[in-house]
Amino acid sequence: MFQYQTLNTLQCERFSHFAEYLQQENRAFNLTRIVDTSQIYLRHFADSLEALPWLDAVMARSEKPRLIDVGSGAGLPGLAIAIARPQWEVISLDATGKKIGFQQRLIRRLGLANVTALQGRAEELAHQPAFRERFDAVLARAVAHLQVVCELCVGFLSIDGRLVTAKGSEVGPEIEQARSTFATLQLDLETVTPYSLSDLAQKMETPLEGEDASFNLLVLTKKASISSRYPRPFGAIKKSLSGPYSTGAR
Ligand code: SAH
Repeated sequence: MFQYQTLNTLQCERFSHFAEYLQQENRAFNLTRIVDTSQIYLRHFADSLEALPWLDAVMARSEKPRLIDVGSGAGLPGLAIAIARPQWEVISLDATGKKIGFQQRLIRRLGLANVTALQGRAEELAHQPAFRERFDAVLARAVAHLQVVCELCVGFLSIDGRLVTAKGSEVGPEIEQARSTFATLQLDLETVTPYSLSDLAQKMETPLEGEDASFNLLVLTKKASISSRYPRPFGAIKKSLSGPYSTGAR
């Protein structure tokens, strides 16, 4: 069974079922390249939970804490966070219907009452009043280049809200390229925290199988409201990227 630091038995059971259902549905829907149970625990679940310490503080300020995961794919990190923090309201957003279909079935199976899986495009939804500046935190894992991620996510954030996004080990140049985007979008890059698969294995109290790898967790805070121009249509965001385009895949 999945094991992780402070999670209780129900939460760990939910993670184990999540992995089983992901493996089962993956054959039909091609949801992830990571198929081995221990690798799902490590690279999907423990990796997603790495955001928790950066979220707890900002979510604690809110009476009804709300979080959105942009481009959640098979439900990562959004559903993992929803399992770990049942007191938070979580929206798990993805543009692809088959991925949201999978998430909705999973949510029902696990009986998760605090999360909604929603099909839609971030750059459209972020202009709707019910979504604009309505979230204490936004997550995005492996969605796009950092500049694109910032623009897709910032509209959702309330002032002083946080964007937490995981990147690979070589994030330095991507950050330098994104400096002007941070300024335009009123984002302060607060911290860049390196972590590795062996750190994650330690939190699961299991030995690391296979090779180690390192990543960075970026935490950005929104300092002020932004122009209603942003986010622009996806084509315009991609076109204005400085430097080589990256898919954000890790
Ligand atoms: N966060 C997941 C999935 C990463 S793949 C994980 O870490 O495993 C990127 C996902 O982002 C895809 O499922 C894609 O459908 C979604 N996506 C890309 N651009 C998007 C947009 N503009 N709005 C909503 N979802 C988007």
